[in-house]
Amino acid sequence: MTTVARAWRVALALTLGACASVPLAPPWEDVPLRYDITYTHDPSPRLKVEVTLPPSPPGVFPGSFLFRQPGRESSVIATFGNGSRAEIFPRDGVVRVPEGARSLRYHYPLASSSRGGGRHLFGGMGEGDTWHVGGKAYLLTPSRVTPDLRVDLTVSGADALLPWTPDDRGVYHLRGEDLIDAGFHSFGGRRCQVHVGASVLEVALLGHFTHLTDADICAWLEQAGREVVTVRRAFPYPHVTVRVVPVPGDDTPGVFGMTLWSSPPSISILVGQDATAVSFAKDWVAVHEMLHLTHPALVPRVAWLTEGLTTYYTELARARSGRQPAQQAWQELVNGFARGHAASRSRPMKEVVAEERNFMGIYWTGALFALHLDVELRRVTNGRARLEDVLELLATRGPTATLESFGDAVDTVAGQPLFDALLARHLSGPAFAALDPLLEDLGVRIDPGGVKLHAAPGSGVREALDGERTPDDAG
Ligand SMILES: [Zn+2]
Repeated sequence: MTTVARAWRVALALTLGACASVPLAPPWEDVPLRYDITYTHDPSPRLKVEVTLPPSPPGVFPGSFLFRQPGRESSVIATFGNGSRAEIFPRDGVVRVPEGARSLRYHYPLASSSRGGGRHLFGGMGEGDTWHVGGKAYLLTPSRVTPDLRVDLTVSGADALLPWTPDDRGVYHLRGEDLIDAGFHSFGGRRCQVHVGASVLEVALLGHFTHLTDADICAWLEQAGREVVTVRRAFPYPHVTVRVVPVPGDDTPGVFGMTLWSSPPSISILVGQDATAVSFAKDWVAVHEMLHLTHPALVPRVAWLTEGLTTYYTELARARSGRQPAQQAWQELVNGFARGHAASRSRPMKEVVAEERNFMGIYWTGALFALHLDVELRRVTNGRARLEDVLELLATRGPTATLESFGDAVDTVAGQPLFDALLARHLSGPAFAALDPLLEDLGVRIDPGGVKLHAAPGSGVREALDGERTPDDAG
């Protein structure tokens, strides 16, 4: 007994000693910042947000919060411990929080008051009680987010689909960085679940379609998910959310899609309200967005690489799954390279990809680089390694990569330096200079009537790329 009691006293002394010698930790690390979000349509569709601030000694509290994508933000009511209130008007999205404030409350209008500008993927788009919004648009976040910041978040008033999974009581436990890369959110709508291997895609259907049933849309997403597994060994994330929003007066199956790097990533796709299930067979938007999950987020952003990889695999994956014949996949690639070439006007790739809005140039110079890189990897390893192996390796190294670490993974898989020299050749030479010799080697000929595939030194590689020849055949 004595021994135990003494040990306890020693432990207590050590604990107290530790407390006394360490400066007080900022309140952030102990008590989570709390967001309570309520959907209401009274008097118009909106989100009521209450941010409860952790108690903090004077001077410790960070003095400002930020609407990171300002546009529709309203004034913020700060409430103090004694019940008094102050109204704060954001300036350029910045909200200066007065000392002693306990909570911040504000409304975010989901429907725009401006005429004509009513539908915005980030700002808010929807109908009735069904809404799509970017988390970044409505979440008021601390201007300084430390790695230790913890956040608890709840939603009420609507069935919400956020990128994250709540606990049993419906509370989302987040890190500070989740507030910054907050992904896409939706409120209301119908749901379906898509299973791809052991992974689940949680889908929100945000409005009504003329011809499509919910089952049609979810079968389409399931097909896209299965096509991702023609590139990666397994679907890259256990749980991913997808929001599908109808576009009135449009019959295009996939009108537009976007994948945001929340953790896990979140996907939203706009679908023509008048599209038919048959038209999904030719759609590339859903599989393209899901193929973005196969590569890490590039930090800083390297759009030509991520879009290039994804654009390249969008055609190959649809051939590997049998959705389009191999000839069609090469036709689509050749057509895309021609559009990219026209947008590049034979300038060096490095000039083309520096043009922020030259989408054709960026996507297709990148896709050609991806094709060339894949062919070179297979060539130098006698078919043992593929570009997919680089993606598998990168997936073991975390959710982000740099251009340098991507190149390092390529060289590791190749077993020799490969990436830098090939990249330098593409970046400094005229864009698409590598195309004709590459197609000739692969046995892809552009005839007046369309692309013809024929025997050539690299036609075995071509068949391995598009799935005509399975790895077993090749071996
Ligand atoms: Zn993309």
